[in-house]
Amino acid sequence: MKESVSLQAFNTFGLRAKAHQIKTANNKDELCTYWQNAHEQKLPTLILGGGSNVLFTEDFNGIVIRNCIAGIEITEDEQYWSVYVGAGENWHALIEYLLEKNIYGLENLALIPGNVGSAPIQNIGAYGKELKDVCAYVDIIELSTGHVSRLTNEACQFGYRDSIFKHHYQQGFAIIAVGLQLSKKWEPILTYGDLSKLSLETVTPKDVFGSVCSMRTSKLPDPTLTGNAGSFFKNPIVDIRIAQHLKAEYPFCPQYVQQDGVKLAAGWLIDQCGLKGHQIGGAAVHMKQALVLINKDGLATGKDIVNLAAYIRQKVFERFGVQLEPEVRFIGQHGEINAVDAIS
Ligand SMILES: Cc1cc2nc3c(=O)[nH]c(=O)nc-3n(C[C@H](O)[C@H](O)[C@H](O)COP(=O)(O)OP(=O)(O)OC[C@H]3O[C@@H](n4cnc5c(N)ncnc54)[C@H](O)[C@@H]3O)c2cc1C
Repeated sequence: MKESVSLQAFNTFGLRAKAHQIKTANNKDELCTYWQNAHEQKLPTLILGGGSNVLFTEDFNGIVIRNCIAGIEITEDEQYWSVYVGAGENWHALIEYLLEKNIYGLENLALIPGNVGSAPIQNIGAYGKELKDVCAYVDIIELSTGHVSRLTNEACQFGYRDSIFKHHYQQGFAIIAVGLQLSKKWEPILTYGDLSKLSLETVTPKDVFGSVCSMRTSKLPDPTLTGNAGSFFKNPIVDIRIAQHLKAEYPFCPQYVQQDGVKLAAGWLIDQCGLKGHQIGGAAVHMKQALVLINKDGLATGKDIVNLAAYIRQKVFERFGVQLEPEVRFIGQHGEINAVDAIS
């Protein structure tokens, strides 16, 4: 009989999906060994960090390998701190650890759940800062051979919630470390939310950290209490003509001009469709933040969340002619599946 273990504690949606086995890799050799063993047994593998950006649509018929490679090494020169971080370190704990040492530059990205090794994959971002602004390089390993290579910031091809890791280096590769370069010349970014209330003259990195943490805890549901994966959909980027048309019809539609079009706020579009609180099975749209889908009473299935996401996508398209795409990665029984196809 096949082994079966619960993934509930390993995904922030708190879904009760199962896998054959869960392995914890504390170094790159273990990572390769677990992957190669699974490969020999012809079982699918999934490298997992904190499980805060995945949706298990059903049970996973394979081996989950948790990347828990630890370690933080700091060097410095006159201008920069260079920080080499193992992929299994917790992202928020890293920020706290560095701030305690008076090393700053990551505070706008505080309280984003998950591991350091996952941060480059979707180029995590919040409150005006993205990982790409501080990432010097990413170390990856080829799991069949143990060969390690280093990708420079440019080679990572970072974009909005995007990087090369979403298009290449998916099967058979894992991120084992991230190199950060933090400038000693602190330039606070105070553009968003309550940060704009802070004084540019007196503000400190710890002030920014505190303000970001309190904004996030007041706005976003805590995954340890209510299962969720943060923003479920990406903010859509549309052609300027579509944006102008929307603005004419909906003067309050938030719009942000980008190099490649105009970014709309997915949460606003969902909210305008009256979907806050909308529920399908155990899945619901969060009452305060329409972009967040929740596992309402801890009883939702992956299918409930898929059905709710499909309903939202359809309603937003009917009203605004805009197609939403999930930010969350969908994991089916054999591995990642196309999230857009799953909700179309
Ligand atoms: C409450 C909440 C708030 C959030 N807020 C934000 C936000 O403000 N900004 C933002 O950008 N994101 C946000 N997120 C999303 C999430 O925190 C990030 O995407 C985070 O980087 C995911 O990290 P993780 O370790 O949990 O990844 P996981 O969910 O474990 O994995 C995500 C994907 O990466 C792959 N993967 C993981 N580790 C590795 C590795 N070492 N090598 C190769 N592949 C790997 C997995 O197979 C999976 O496909 C939020 C999530 C929650 C729950």
